Amino acid sequence: MLVMVLCWLAGLLPAFDTVVIDAGHGGKDPGSVWKPHYEKTLCLDVAKRLNTALKARGFKTVMTRTDDTYVELSERAVIANKHPGAIFVSIHFNANRDRTVRGFETHYRSDKGKVLAESIQESMKKSVPSRSRGVDWEDLKVLRETKGPAVLVECGFISSRTESSDCGSWKHRQMIADAIASGIAAVKGTL
Ligand SMILES: [Zn+2]
Repeated sequence: MLVMVLCWLAGLLPAFDTVVIDAGHGGKDPGSVWKPHYEKTLCLDVAKRLNTALKARGFKTVMTRTDDTYVELSERAVIANKHPGAIFVSIHFNANRDRTVRGFETHYRSDKGKVLAESIQESMKKSVPSRSRGVDWEDLKVLRETKGPAVLVECGFISSRTESSDCGSWKHRQMIADAIASGIAAVKGTL
């Protein structure tokens, strides 16, 4: 009887079908700058590619920015929270003074965010030819203020001697976007 009730309840909770895609930085905030790369530009490019990849997989999408505009962090969360049940995926690139540091990592703050982060990170490990730096808990403002499952993906180091040119390649960025989309699709129905 209990199992039946649980199944019935589960049926009432729809699987998320909307993804809020957040291209990091923008406008007056360039993010990390490591010539010739501007983080804000690479974030927007991956976000747009992710948007296309998710739509192809049947998801509805919302983008917090679609051009080189500055959007406050709290405004990004406000946009996400207008879509109850949606998941939130923020796209960033990394930089470090140590030019040997490279790889991709995914941050989360909630339990459901962790499930999503692990799925995205696993998917990227399979297809993105760089180093997996794993997932970790971070008290980031966009993750803290977003009500639904939320993650922030650091797609790679624009400062890395070996990864920088990959970050500048659209084929590499497409690979990242496809991997993130697959990682999201893999947890549909479980969050
Ligand atoms: Zn960033």
